[in-house]
Amino acid sequence: MRILVTGGAGFIGSALIRHLLNDTEHQVLNLDKLTYAGNLESLAGVADNPRYRFLQADIGDSAAVSRALAEFQPDAIMHLAAESHVDRSIDGPAAFIQTNIVGTYALLEATRAYWLQLDQARRQAFRFHHISTDEVYGDLHGVDELFTENTPYAPSSPYSASKAASDHLVRAWQRTYGLPVLVTNCSNNYGPYHFPEKLIPLVILNALEGKPLPVYGNGQQVRDWLYVEDHARALLKVVSEGRVGETYNIGGHNEQTNLHVVESICALLDELAPLEGNLGAGMRDGDNAAPHSYKELITFVADRPGHDQRYAIDASKIERELGWKPQETFESGLRKTVRWYLDNLDWCRRVRG
Ligand code: NAD
Repeated sequence: MRILVTGGAGFIGSALIRHLLNDTEHQVLNLDKLTYAGNLESLAGVADNPRYRFLQADIGDSAAVSRALAEFQPDAIMHLAAESHVDRSIDGPAAFIQTNIVGTYALLEATRAYWLQLDQARRQAFRFHHISTDEVYGDLHGVDELFTENTPYAPSSPYSASKAASDHLVRAWQRTYGLPVLVTNCSNNYGPYHFPEKLIPLVILNALEGKPLPVYGNGQQVRDWLYVEDHARALLKVVSEGRVGETYNIGGHNEQTNLHVVESICALLDELAPLEGNLGAGMRDGDNAAPHSYKELITFVADRPGHDQRYAIDASKIERELGWKPQETFESGLRKTVRWYLDNLDWCRRVRG
């Protein structure tokens, strides 16, 4: 297939492109605006692959997107470009409305015009795969309930509301215009190349610098965590074998409280980068207050407004229909992630800069 990936310089998009180039024969065009969250360095290992090309463009720029479609002639679009950080959406929702809603609308319209002029066989085989989040479902308060593909939407943050709106647009373009779409809603991802403002990389890097490890509220919010390479494998399954018009929930069977996640990172760092040999800023030898375990840096901060209590995914449909299951456990994935950050501190410094 010739696959146009939007947002391929981001955290999940770059994992997907590495998977497509390293493990398949597909051709890839990465269309990315390169916001603060997009880093071509995440693709350095595959950038020279003759099956890969890159175009810097905004999904909202209809002329640029239409040109890219006409030239590249994709068989599928995998749409990951988005503003994705909940805290940023609370501080400044405008960019989320613009990219996630208006940008998705513009991309759908450019795609529809391109799709309509394909010959019948290619039009039938074409797929528009929209990559979304479990946050569109709102939150769960009991311990047993799970989000299924039929759970009603109840988003809480400007981020999740903008993703919910884009999901609705994508489904409407199928219902109204017949565009062959697929939607996936996935739980929290973690792994290499995650921008250091998100919980797991932030905690690793703050810990190494001896800074406080902020935990919202009482830290008892529950999230389901999926290793990003497992997500990339699921996305490839869905775009290749998923049933048109269907939604697939993707999750890691890995429910953890935020506090447990932070404590687990501290325990791994205590093992892999013990404090005695790694005194960060503000922690000097001979300082009686210097901590012995990274756990001592945990600091509870005021809860995020509108903070969802629990997300948990029922991923049985994708397992049943497409035979996908996560390969990493939380323990194995988190260990790989912590090691990756310890080995790639230069990358972190550069993308933060
Ligand atoms: P990210 O913020 O790391 O990357 C987003 C990418 O999109 C960046 O490369 C950025 O430059 C690009 N981009 C932003 N606005 C653009 C625009 N207007 N035009 C073109 N490119 C633009 O995000 P991520 O964590 O990789 O998430 C990718 C997708 O997966 C998003 O749609 C997100 O909603 C969804 N998702 C993320 C998670 C998660 O845990 N990170 C979970 C489920 C779903």
